[in-house]
Amino acid sequence: MFKKEALESLYDFVVSSRGFSLKDKVKIILFASQVKRASSVVMRINSRDLEEKFTFEKKLKKCGFVFLASKPRSYEEIEKISGNEIKWDIVGLWVNYDLFKNKRGMNSFLAYRHLALKKQEHARRSIIAGRLYDYPKCCIKQYIRETPDWLKENLSYYRLYKKLHDSDKKFPFICHEPCMIGCKGSRKLDMLYSNMIKKIAPELWDAYRRKVSYDTELIVDSESDITIHGKSIFDQKDGHEYVVIARHAFNGKHYAYNLLSKTAYARGTILKARVTHQYNTAYIKIKKADGVIKNLISEHEYEVLKKD
Ligand SMILES: [Zn+2]
Repeated sequence: MFKKEALESLYDFVVSSRGFSLKDKVKIILFASQVKRASSVVMRINSRDLEEKFTFEKKLKKCGFVFLASKPRSYEEIEKISGNEIKWDIVGLWVNYDLFKNKRGMNSFLAYRHLALKKQEHARRSIIAGRLYDYPKCCIKQYIRETPDWLKENLSYYRLYKKLHDSDKKFPFICHEPCMIGCKGSRKLDMLYSNMIKKIAPELWDAYRRKVSYDTELIVDSESDITIHGKSIFDQKDGHEYVVIARHAFNGKHYAYNLLSKTAYARGTILKARVTHQYNTAYIKIKKADGVIKNLISEHEYEVLKKD
């Protein structure tokens, strides 16, 4: 009974917390309900919510879970956009949490991390991590196969990014890259996870699935690529994966999105668009290009968050 109460208290805290994204809330609940044996999430802390870190850790311990917390690092948000300048400001700290059902899980993770830091034994460490996070065997196999050389030979630039976008939309509840869009194991997991969230935290399930749209202008900032020693692995590009920034604030924030496009746009191009948020992703419908901001200034380091 004690354990059940501790779990329910953790669920309530996570659902109403301000420091976790909706996707990370989903991940913590899947982990705590024992559908997943391990997970990795990020908590954002600002001066308003300092106590959340302490409360989260206390509640995890009460449930008997073990975890590793990273050192806090700063994160930035866009403060304002004026003229040709996108002004970023440090607004808080983020902490990465690796969560485990027990010490055995933590030891598997440490073995994986040890190999990953040394960039050794790609296949072995992928199997360790894949088992720990309950990924389907077919997806672990494909992940091991996907070296830069394999990607270059089997996928074009556009198809590679299209697959990533399609996976996010088709399997919003899973935490790995599916081997292919038709992967049965991933579909089964996605349904299992969705049903579990619906049962345990229906309000979170509703919020995660809710579609919210707004009209804005997007400013084309940087372009993504897969590179080795600073050079693209693709000899030719059949598309462009841009980071675009919303010129208008929505819910008080200027969001940054990934936009995959067959059309090439110069940096600073303004695109009139309708953006729809759903799950952890955004659907972008470009209406038209409408001018270019010359000499765009947007200096900061993009934060790269790993999937678990
Ligand atoms: Zn698969």
